[in-house]
Amino acid sequence: MQNYKADFPIFLQKMHGFPLVYLDSSNSSQKPHSVIQAIKQYYENEHANVHRGIYELSENATRAYENTREKVKDFINARHTHEIIFTRGTTESINLVAHSFARLQLKPQDEIILSEMEHHSNIVPWQQLKAEYGIELKVIPISDIGEIDLLTYQQLFSKRTKLVAITHASNVLGTINPLKKMIEIAHAENVPVLVDGAQAFPHMPVDVEALDCDFYIFSSHKAYGPTGVGVLYGKTNWLDRMPPYQSGGSMIEKVSFAETTFAPLPYKFEAGTPHIAGVIGFHAALNYLKKIGMDAIFQHEQYLLKELSERLQEQSSIKIIGTAPHKVGVVSFIMKDVHAHDVGTILSHQGIAVRAGHHCAMPLMQRFKVPALVRVSFGIYNSKEDIDIFMRALETVKRLFK
Ligand code: PLP
Repeated sequence: MQNYKADFPIFLQKMHGFPLVYLDSSNSSQKPHSVIQAIKQYYENEHANVHRGIYELSENATRAYENTREKVKDFINARHTHEIIFTRGTTESINLVAHSFARLQLKPQDEIILSEMEHHSNIVPWQQLKAEYGIELKVIPISDIGEIDLLTYQQLFSKRTKLVAITHASNVLGTINPLKKMIEIAHAENVPVLVDGAQAFPHMPVDVEALDCDFYIFSSHKAYGPTGVGVLYGKTNWLDRMPPYQSGGSMIEKVSFAETTFAPLPYKFEAGTPHIAGVIGFHAALNYLKKIGMDAIFQHEQYLLKELSERLQEQSSIKIIGTAPHKVGVVSFIMKDVHAHDVGTILSHQGIAVRAGHHCAMPLMQRFKVPALVRVSFGIYNSKEDIDIFMRALETVKRLFK
């Protein structure tokens, strides 16, 4: 296994005198040197606003910004560049679809199908529509190992179902959902599918054409890129008909006090000055991912997942929540008689970063009847040595609480 840590300047520092062991990539990934450099280079030498200058700096910035869109399109195998919309992140992308899709066609008693394993970002925006449009949410239950029951899912459809909004991979359980089958089932009922790809895009190859999803959404900051940048992929057929989410500069064609006409895709959904530096930094992140290869990244993290899961399963004081056979590199667990926050704090004092809490998935915590979980999540920079250090530190936690 190649060690990619050297690509990430953050690992040069010590935490509490220990080497930093970063096991919270599902939350946000660290940034390789090339991404940091691209942002620095842009601000030092290339900054101008995009889509409005007729001078060289602005034209170059516009070209760099639009090249990233092209790159994203190729990366996820979308059909058209105009199907890639830049947003602030997964949360904003979901809000965009929720509000715009609702205005296009939701009526009282219409139904949206979600699952029990969704992140709050893929629950709350839909719930907000309940009050505004009088719609209903239907929730797919999950099994004890953390899998979706396809039969129950199928039974949730009715004549009033208007959309399925489902995560590609769970940020808590790690489960990779059987999307292809789920999308086929939804399409057989003439229902479009939105996929929250926040936890899948950075960790495995994604092909929106092969999946045939209607919307696919993710954040740059979980994929080695900067914060404040996200992607909404949508099929032309939907995006063309959906009204703008935000309005103002850049998204218009013609404005008078009597009326405004909107710019074509993708600009109709990109009001105001975008996060140009972030988008350019994201391009560098995509180049970094491409250089390693998404298949290699998946294999690397699968190795770590297997290693850690096996070692934790040997411990009688540990219970892993989420043991589905198909997972991304996420392992959440409870430790007998020790609160997750205590585990996280003691690990932190040994230079280890894990997440502890409800992971923005309170309904899932209720499903498994746990107040909080400790979560280890992997990125490309993690190694077997990180797992060794983590397991040794866990022994310290046990000793302190004995
Ligand atoms: N969806 C999932 C599955 C997530 O894990 C997260 C973040 O952890 C989000 C959505 C929200 O992403 P962001 O905070 O980048 O908008």
